[in-house]
Amino acid sequence: MIIPVHEIEDDDSRVFNLYEKREKIYTRKIEGFYQLLRAFTGWPLLLGYFFIPWLTVNDHQAILFDLPLRQFHIFWLTFWPQDFSLLAWALVIAAFLLFFVTTLFGRVWCGYSCPQTVWTAIFMWMEQVAEGDRHQRINLDQAPWSVSKGFKRFAKHGMWLGFAALTGVTFISYFYGVKPLLIDAYNLQLPLAAVFWIGFFTAATYINAGWMREQVCMYMCPYARFQAAMFDSDTLIVSYDAKRGEARGPRKRSAEPAELGLGDCIDCTMCVQVCPTGIDIRNGLQHECINCAACVDACNGIMDKMGYDSGLISYTTEHQLAGNKWTWKRPKLIGYGLALIVMMALFASTLITRVPLELDVMRSRAQLYQEVAGGRIQNTYTVKVLNKDTVDGEYKLTVLGIDNLEWMPSRTIFVEAGGIAEIPMTVLVDTDSLGSVNTDIEFEVISLTGSARAVSESRFLGPVPAGKRL
Ligand code: SF4
Ligand code: SF4
Repeated sequence: MIIPVHEIEDDDSRVFNLYEKREKIYTRKIEGFYQLLRAFTGWPLLLGYFFIPWLTVNDHQAILFDLPLRQFHIFWLTFWPQDFSLLAWALVIAAFLLFFVTTLFGRVWCGYSCPQTVWTAIFMWMEQVAEGDRHQRINLDQAPWSVSKGFKRFAKHGMWLGFAALTGVTFISYFYGVKPLLIDAYNLQLPLAAVFWIGFFTAATYINAGWMREQVCMYMCPYARFQAAMFDSDTLIVSYDAKRGEARGPRKRSAEPAELGLGDCIDCTMCVQVCPTGIDIRNGLQHECINCAACVDACNGIMDKMGYDSGLISYTTEHQLAGNKWTWKRPKLIGYGLALIVMMALFASTLITRVPLELDVMRSRAQLYQEVAGGRIQNTYTVKVLNKDTVDGEYKLTVLGIDNLEWMPSRTIFVEAGGIAEIPMTVLVDTDSLGSVNTDIEFEVISLTGSARAVSESRFLGPVPAGKRL
């Protein structure tokens, strides 16, 4: 089937493009209570990101995703690929926590803690340092190229690239180890893969925080799209009180709005100028709004200067705007909260009862069984003992399931912290003790301190016992 394609024309028969052209946003710097609050959430995130790789816990980097050794160190805990179910649960809990917080506070994650927002804020600050305030940046963009303009552009992109590179190097240090990374880089021995990923994350940071900014939130982030599903009439949103603000219009400070038929909005557009996504909150809740409250701070400043009450734009709820009371007794909120409590309790108990020891047994496939001197039957196995603890361990191996079993080696096994011991084992039994050609047996490993035990099941094969038929 052929779908005909038509160009779309406006009333004057001019073809127009349905793709909206991006308009550059020149955000005005704003100070206020919520911007201070954002600094308190953004700075710990930034500092944590850059300094955690320099912390050492139990002789390893505080957070290290050691892919070659398949060990994931997170402070005092070490996880293995076998613990991936825990990671999956942690991600599910994080998702439910996000749903719960979003139902309660709206998109506060976006406005206060999302790395895209925090890094963009830093890049905006650098832009301001290099090119000046909003008006100076608008003028600079319109000005022809000159030495001064070139220098300012160079300074801005230099700072952006420097910070992006620092971000990229730090990100890779969570996988490579910060000290080995710096030593290998100094000796020009960094593997190509590490160089590639540093370059990739540097470029991604530079483009996302420097160039794309609000476009990431508006078009790339899936969270912005499905957040509406978590909102209800009592979710905290940034909202303009149209009843109080309209009709908007300029006036003298001394004027009485009611006499002029005006509301409290003086139409100064400060709320639009400070908005990092370039929207006008007076048009109602829009999916672009990241709940950063820059417009709240801007408008409160204007209200102060005008001698009006603050809160024309504020954190509020649909119910409160309609004159109703806020309530926490909402099915969605209670549902997310209960699910979160149950999952967190299960996760904590799994973590607390997690045994830092693993046993893996593989029967030799080369031979079903072997008859050895003394009429005995021998099976061979490869036994792997994985010490997932942060201290070295000594272990005792036992084989259970058939009377009079013997196994070699029967000595204790030493496994260093985070190490694996691979032991070829021989298990022997008298033919008379075998009741079947195929008997279930169990390997058990116990630490000498008695703090950890692991078991693994296997089979013991032998000939058809005398007097029995297959
Ligand atoms: S900052 Fe406040 S007063 Fe100024 S346009 Fe926005 S809502 Fe109106
Ligand atoms: S409308 Fe207000 S809260 Fe929403 S993104 Fe813009 S400045 Fe932030």
